[in-house]
Amino acid sequence: MMHLESSSAKVEQQFYQAVERSLEKRPALETVIKPFAAVLVKRASIVAEISAFMQPMDMDRTADRLASGVPMVTDISLADWKMALEKTLANLMPVLNRSFPNLKADFSAIEAAIKNGESDLSILAKAYLEGNCRVFQSSVQNIVGAAGALGFVVNWTLSAVLNAARIQWENAVDLSSWSKGYCPVCGSLPAISYLSKPNGPTSEFLRGGGGQKFLHCALCGQNWRFKRNRCPACDTDDKDNRIYYREVGETSERFDACRHCGHYLLGIDLRENNVSASLDMAAVGMVHLDILARGKGFSPMTWTPWNRIDEG
Ligand SMILES: [Zn+2]
Ligand SMILES: [Zn+2]
Repeated sequence: MMHLESSSAKVEQQFYQAVERSLEKRPALETVIKPFAAVLVKRASIVAEISAFMQPMDMDRTADRLASGVPMVTDISLADWKMALEKTLANLMPVLNRSFPNLKADFSAIEAAIKNGESDLSILAKAYLEGNCRVFQSSVQNIVGAAGALGFVVNWTLSAVLNAARIQWENAVDLSSWSKGYCPVCGSLPAISYLSKPNGPTSEFLRGGGGQKFLHCALCGQNWRFKRNRCPACDTDDKDNRIYYREVGETSERFDACRHCGHYLLGIDLRENNVSASLDMAAVGMVHLDILARGKGFSPMTWTPWNRIDEG
């Protein structure tokens, strides 16, 4: 228990250092960075708490499925996670209300519908994960006016539970050979890519002078290796279709976009600063690039609670 407390205090401290850095760099983003930072910190402590009691998943067929490109949570029922999801929602609600007071009425309606059994959070989470609009829409009809807020709430809740599950599986499953553009754990497309220093003395990547490229899933927190010159969304490696944008004077933050499929992805270079407290926090501090990329007609690869904040 002592270990858990001290490590979550450390996580919190790292978070707030990252927040300070982001605010220093872009004071104009304060109204975005602060509310999301508060929820991200809360999510990290919930993840540590629920991973201790969550039901472990049956891993029998996992290796075979992964070998054929099937993410781990595909086809599983989330019914076993219902308790974890409900507990997470209850723990998140106060910070969501504080951070996003404009959505308070919608949040209350959603919480009430789940508490009185009108909506089942595990079914909503499953529908969200699969992008199953029909199930999601019919649930939303019961919660009038709350469609946007429901996606927001379900994303945060599912995200905490998937992060906890991912941590439980971390040592049980080898994901090092995964080479797809989508997440090996939950199947989502990445929210941000990053370059890190090559590991080990014999790395072939040293010869290219670059770092290793990784993709980060904002829903479950998984990071995985990916080829540097390939689009995670459509898999093209045609360099004529790839463009990137970086602000003048900015060396470590950019977005890459693909003319072939019309998607963009934020990217951060971590070769200089070894440790990043939270890639999600880094992505929140880059929403100005999201706005810019969408202004140029590109779409994000995945929806995150923060990347379309300007669309209200
Ligand atoms: Zn994922
Ligand atoms: Zn593409």
